[in-house]
Amino acid sequence: MIGESSLGLCLFKKMQVSKLASKNNNPENILVQPYLYGLFKNTGYNRLLNELGWDTLDDRRKLSRLCLFKKMQVSKLASKNNNPENILVQPYLYGLLPGTVGDRSGYVLRNASKVDNVKTRLVVSYNSFIPKTIRDWNALFIEYWHVELAENNIQNAGSIDSFKARYKREYLRSPNPLFKLDFNNGNIHHTCLRLGLSHLRAHLFSHNLIDNPVCQFCNLEPEDTDHYILRCPTYNNVRVRYLMEIANLLHPTYIASLDDEKLVNIFLYGDNELNFETNKQLILMAQAFLVDSKRFDVRLLR
Ligand SMILES: [Zn+2]
Repeated sequence: MIGESSLGLCLFKKMQVSKLASKNNNPENILVQPYLYGLFKNTGYNRLLNELGWDTLDDRRKLSRLCLFKKMQVSKLASKNNNPENILVQPYLYGLLPGTVGDRSGYVLRNASKVDNVKTRLVVSYNSFIPKTIRDWNALFIEYWHVELAENNIQNAGSIDSFKARYKREYLRSPNPLFKLDFNNGNIHHTCLRLGLSHLRAHLFSHNLIDNPVCQFCNLEPEDTDHYILRCPTYNNVRVRYLMEIANLLHPTYIASLDDEKLVNIFLYGDNELNFETNKQLILMAQAFLVDSKRFDVRLLR
């Protein structure tokens, strides 16, 4: 499920133990957050990874390869400059590195630090460490208009640690602390909405669990996330309260300027242009909507 089967199985066991403990009112044995043991089967792989802030094994292996590659480059340069303190790997490793575009040209070029790739004849060589990592390394380049700006490229990071930190920040996922917030168990339903499998009839329909996605309360249109949050007349009172609360928190004119898609995004994920404290309040207000609407108090399938 997650890429490393043992890790996935341990998590799965923890989710099972926690679900049972929650059912038996035994809080000591709850080992994971409620939003995890409240998940349904058939949960989408990428949506689940985004929810957890985890990276795939492939992504983590790619970072390890790139870090070793960076170490080899630093060591090669240190060896050239007679600076033994900065030699981080054995000579037989940095000796494998091909030259760069800058090595071949006497001009100052924007892509001077791109590494020349080696020619390969077989697929197995094409996917081996050096050719594969050179492709990944060169793919990180951003073509800036000015030569001086090219220094901003991630490959030119000053140290291995800064390269790694910047790569993680720009290319990998990180757990979202907002997803751990909870208001009266509302975060289980909040997570289910984000994962696209909740009590809403459009979600159940998309997983072939029911025959008809139309909202059973108003019969106006399919009961998807947008309909539930923005339009279903059944929740008008809860919705008015929610909209007044977020209008007070942000600004009425700002709320009025938002389209439906942005409003639903704020409801599900918060607003990444705002600070953590404001987002925390937005998430808790959304969960109060979920709890007060009582839409999720019924059994999943009736
Ligand atoms: Zn409806």
